[in-house]
Amino acid sequence: MAASDTPVLLLNAPLVANRLGYPDLSGLDLLEAFAFVHPARFCVPTPRGLAEALELDEPKGDEEVPAFLQRAAGSLVAACEDPEWFERQGAWSALQSLERLRWPWAQVLKPHVARPQQAEKWLFTTLPEWEESPERGAPRQVDLPDVEVLGQLDHLTGEGAEKREGQRSYASDAARIFAPRDKRDLPHIALAQAGTGIGKTLGYLAPSSLWANASGGTVWVSTFTKNLQRQLRAESRRAWPIKRPDGTPPVVVRKGRENYLCLLNLEDALQGGFAGRPAILAQLVARWAAFTRDGDMIGGDLPGWLGTLFRKRGIAALTDQRGECIYAGCPHYRKCFIERAGRDSAQADLVIANHALVMVNAARGRDHAQRPTRLIFDEGHHVFEAADSTFAATLSGQEAIELRRWIIGPERKNRGRRRGLAARLADIASYDDEGGEAIEAAIEAGQALPGDGWLQRLNEGEPSGPLEQLLFAVRAATYARDESGGQEAGYGIETEASGLPGEVIEAAGVAAEALAAIRTPLIKLGGRLEAVMADPPDWLDGQGRARIEGARHSLSWRVDLLAAWESLLARLGGPADPEFVDWLAVDRSDAREFDVAIHRRWLDPMKPFAKVVLEPAHGVMLTSATLTDRIEVGDPWESAIARSGAAHVETQPMLSMAESPFDYASRAEVLIVTDIKKGDLPGLAGAYARLIEASKGGVLGLFTAIRRLRAVHGRIADRLAREGLPLYAQHVDPIDTGTLVDIFRDDPRASLLGTDALRDGVDVPGRSLRCVVLEAVPWPRPDILHKARRAASGSGSQYDDRIIRARLAQAFGRLIRNREDHGHFVVLSAAFPSRLLSAFPEGTAIRRVTLEEALERIGQGLIGPDEAAGQTALDKAQTRQ
Ligand code: SF4
Repeated sequence: MAASDTPVLLLNAPLVANRLGYPDLSGLDLLEAFAFVHPARFCVPTPRGLAEALELDEPKGDEEVPAFLQRAAGSLVAACEDPEWFERQGAWSALQSLERLRWPWAQVLKPHVARPQQAEKWLFTTLPEWEESPERGAPRQVDLPDVEVLGQLDHLTGEGAEKREGQRSYASDAARIFAPRDKRDLPHIALAQAGTGIGKTLGYLAPSSLWANASGGTVWVSTFTKNLQRQLRAESRRAWPIKRPDGTPPVVVRKGRENYLCLLNLEDALQGGFAGRPAILAQLVARWAAFTRDGDMIGGDLPGWLGTLFRKRGIAALTDQRGECIYAGCPHYRKCFIERAGRDSAQADLVIANHALVMVNAARGRDHAQRPTRLIFDEGHHVFEAADSTFAATLSGQEAIELRRWIIGPERKNRGRRRGLAARLADIASYDDEGGEAIEAAIEAGQALPGDGWLQRLNEGEPSGPLEQLLFAVRAATYARDESGGQEAGYGIETEASGLPGEVIEAAGVAAEALAAIRTPLIKLGGRLEAVMADPPDWLDGQGRARIEGARHSLSWRVDLLAAWESLLARLGGPADPEFVDWLAVDRSDAREFDVAIHRRWLDPMKPFAKVVLEPAHGVMLTSATLTDRIEVGDPWESAIARSGAAHVETQPMLSMAESPFDYASRAEVLIVTDIKKGDLPGLAGAYARLIEASKGGVLGLFTAIRRLRAVHGRIADRLAREGLPLYAQHVDPIDTGTLVDIFRDDPRASLLGTDALRDGVDVPGRSLRCVVLEAVPWPRPDILHKARRAASGSGSQYDDRIIRARLAQAFGRLIRNREDHGHFVVLSAAFPSRLLSAFPEGTAIRRVTLEEALERIGQGLIGPDEAAGQTALDKAQTRQ
C-alpha cells in the first residue's frame, strides 16, 4: 500500500516484488539512479554491494538497511553536485528526456544536475570513429626455444615469484603448438590437462606473447565462460600494455555481434521506437554508451542487472540479434562498436573469444585472412558441446519466422526500424532490373514461411501455408509417439525421425519445395550483387560497396541455411544417415509450448570441427582441469582424444599432464549422504536448509531439474532469511546468472542454488564458497541424442559413467580454487556407485554418512581422512559399501 501511494526508496524492485509475491512493484529504485549517475561502473546489486560502490559504511544488518538506502540516495544526489563528477557529460540532456518519460528519479535529481554552459553534444557525435588500418601480413615462421619460453614465464609471474614446476613444464608443452607445421591441413595439436592451481593462464600466455611478438601474428584464446574472459583480460596485462604507442589495443575481447550495442537500434529506441519503461532503459543505456570500454552489453561493463530491472527484452532489442545490420549503409558505421571490435581483433596480438564465436567464424566468417591459425581452447572440455550446437541444423517455427522477417520485414504492429530485403536493397532494386525481380520473387516465395501467431494457429488446428502445415504434422506426430513422460510433467517432448506417419512425409515434401522456391531467387540475387560489384555504377561509393558486400555475406548464409533445411526434410522419409541423429520435438516449459522443431545433429560433431577449425589452423591446444577421465583402469586420455577431433585429421596429439599442487586430502572432503530418499522432496528441502545452517551460508547447491530447484527454494528461503542467511536461486530470482554469482561472491553468508551453468561457470575463491551440495548423482538425461551417441560408443554404461565422472569433477572443482580454500562436497544420494568415486582427486577423503553425521562434520569444520583407522578414505568408503 505504501509503495502504491508514494514512490518509496527500493533496491532492485523486481527482486523485492518477487520476494513479496507481488506481480509488480515500482518506486525509486536506487539501482536505476546508480546506472544514471555512474554508468559503466561495477556494482553488486545488494545493500552491501552498493555501499562498496559508493564508498559508504555497509549496513550491519537488515534493520539498518532502510537508513542506509537513504544515505545511498543522498550520496548519489551529492555526486551530481560534485564538480569532479566523472560521468557528467550528457547527464543534463538525458535527464530532460527522462523527465518527459516520467522517470521517478528525474524530479529528485533535476535540482542537482546543473545545466551545462554549452549545449551538450548528441551521443552519436561524441563517440570516437575507428580507423581503417592496413592488412596485417602473414606471421613469420618462428621457433620458440624452451629457455626463452621459461624466461618469458618468469617475466610474467614476476620477480621473486615461486617457481612452480608444473607450470614450467606446462608452458614448455604449450609452446610446441607454435612450431612451424610440416604439412598442409595437419596442425600441431596439443591436449593439456592442467590441474587447478598450476597457473595455467600465464602458462600459455608466456609462449603466446613470445610468439605474437616474434612472428607478428595473432593468437586466439577461446573460453566457454565470460568469467574466464574477464580473468584473461586482467592477466594479459602482464604481457601487454592496455594500448600500443599508436593507440591500438594489443589485446581484444571479441564476442558474437549479438553481444554488442547496435547504435542504430539505440538511436531508433531514443527517437520513439521504445515507449514507457523500455524508453527509460534506452536513455540509461545511452548514458552507458558514452562511457563504455567496448560496447559489450552482455558480460561487459553494462551492469548485468540493468536489463532485468526493466523486465521486457529491452537489452536484446538494442543489440543486433537478427543480422539486420546494414553495414556501411548505417550512419553510425564508423563508430559502430561491432565494426571496431572486428578491426581491432585483426590487428591484435591476443584475441580473447568464446568457443561458439571461433567456430561460427571458421564456418562462415567473412574474411578468410582473419581466421585464427594459432588457437588455444581453454575450458577445452566444452569444445565438444560447442561444436555440437554450432554444427547442428534446426528447422523450427521460431527460426523460420526469423527468416521470414529478414526477407519480408516485420508484420503489422511492430515498431522500430526492422526492414526486409526490399527496403535494405532499394537502390539495387531500382538500378538493376534482374536484381529487383529476384527480390520480389524472394518476397513472394517467403510468404510460405510461418507468420505471426503461427503457434496459436497450430494449437487451433488451422495452420496456414506449407511450413505451418509441416510443423502442425510434426507436432501431432510428436504428441502421438512421445513416451518420455514429459507430456504430463509439462516438459519438452520428442520422437525419433524414423518411421514417420505419411502426413509428416507428405508435408515435408511440400515444405521442401517451398523452401527451394525461396532459395532460388536468393541465389540469383547474390549473383546480381556480384555483377553490380564487378561493374559498379558511378553512384556506388566505398560505403555502398561495403554494404553490398555485407548483403552478399548475409545472403549466402541464408542460402546455406535453406539448403540445410531442405536436406533435413529430404531425409525424413528415406533411410537414416549414420552420420546424423534426427528427431522431432515440441519445446515446452511449464506445459506452455514455445516452439516446434525438426533437429539434426552430427553423431560426432568433431568431424565438421576438424574440417573447418583444425585443418586450416597451424597450432591448436585444448586445455582444461577436467580434460582427461579419472578412470581407475584404462586410458584416461582416450575420451579426451576422441572429443578433441584429432582423430579426424590423422595426427597424434601431443599430451601434457600437470597435476594440481593442492593438498586435497587436508583441504576437502566428500560426504555422500545416504539417508535422503529419492523423490522425497520435503526431505531434500530440509537437508538443504540444515546444511546451509550448519555451514552458516557459503553453500552452492546444484540441481539437475529446475522444478526441484524451485520447490526446494520455495520451502526454505524464508526460513533461512529469518536466520540472516540469504538464499538466491537461478530460475527464481529475476537476476541474470553473472550477477547472482557476483552477489554470492560478495556475501559470505549468502548461498546460491542453480543448475548446469553453475557447475563449472563459477569461480569463487575464498570463504564465500565453502560447501557444494549436489541434489543427486548427475546422471545424463536419456534423450534421443544421448541414446544414439551412447549406442555408437559401443561402451554402454561406461559412456554414462564417463559423463557423470566429468560432471562430478567439474562440480568438485568449484570448491578449492586456491591454496587456502577448504570445504565439503556433499552428494545427497542413497545410491552412489563406488565406480564413480575416482572422479575426485586422489587423496580426498570420501565418507558415506547420514545427514546428521554430515551436519556434524560441516558444523565442526572436520575435514580429511581418519588417520587412526589406517585406511585411505577411498578404501574406507568402499569397505562401507
Ligand atoms: S553498423 Fe550495423 S551493427 Fe553497427 S550500428 Fe550500424 S546497423 Fe548497428
